[in-house]
Amino acid sequence: MSHLLAGKTALVLGVANKWSIAYFIARAFVREGASLVLTYQGERQRATVEELGAELTAASILNCDVTKQEELDALISALKQHAPVHAVVHSIAFANRDDLSRPFVETGRDGYLLAQEVSAYSLVAVARAVSPLMTAGGSITTLTYLGSTRVVQNYNVMGVAKAALEASMRYLASDLGPANIRVNAISAGPIKTASARAVKDFSKMLEAANIAPLRRNTDPAEVADTAVFLASDLGRGVTGNVLFVDAGFQVIGLASAN
Ligand code: NAP
Repeated sequence: MSHLLAGKTALVLGVANKWSIAYFIARAFVREGASLVLTYQGERQRATVEELGAELTAASILNCDVTKQEELDALISALKQHAPVHAVVHSIAFANRDDLSRPFVETGRDGYLLAQEVSAYSLVAVARAVSPLMTAGGSITTLTYLGSTRVVQNYNVMGVAKAALEASMRYLASDLGPANIRVNAISAGPIKTASARAVKDFSKMLEAANIAPLRRNTDPAEVADTAVFLASDLGRGVTGNVLFVDAGFQVIGLASAN
């Protein structure tokens, strides 16, 4: 059987536990023959990510809080021994729980800026830091959600951050295209993860899937396979795109479940 990512090195940021979308992506990358570098955010996550990384035979497991430039710099120094890097997955987001439950109009300045920094600016910081190590070209993929362009109750400040993330993705695609580095976003349907549970009434987002064309929720393994496609040579013509992996939910304007 052919391996779509044989000979490629991939950096995956955002594995917190075995439910993380990044974990499914990392697993699919290994299945396709990639050599893997994982990151974790601080000591709190270290043991879990090291355990998952060992299971995935990751080449390295490194600390990186994306809001700390010195940790990004240390990541890049450590990553040099694995260069060239061919694929980067940015699967990171954060907002205060309060800002995911009350009306958006009540969002304070600090909460707004925090969501933007962790969930949107970090893509720019990571792309700027890692792209010099992507000397053979490659792919940077981030994770987004429909709340970037539509109002999804309680998604609030994260929807605004995802809008900035998607716009950043397009500008990065334009800047890095001449180096043959493609930058894309996967817009995943709702998936039960630690971050998702922070959104008030998240279960209602899952229930809404009964009106999606495929009449079901999104399987994280489907998101992971799309990430494989983008990181592989099969995706060589795709950049600056938002690819929806959401059972088709985004096309529905008005429908009733049946
Ligand atoms: P998750 O498992 O909680 O992953 C989020 C990751 O972001 C965690 O590993 C978290 O680490 C990390 N993170 C937060 N702040 C960070 C920081 N300052 N530095 C480094 N890492 C940081 O949840 P997930 O659902 O898989 O989320 C992954 C991505 O998919 C996010 O961008 C999310 O918005 C997106 N997405 C999710 C869904 C969904 O329904 N689940 C749908 C569409 C898009 P800690 O746990 O240590 O904080």
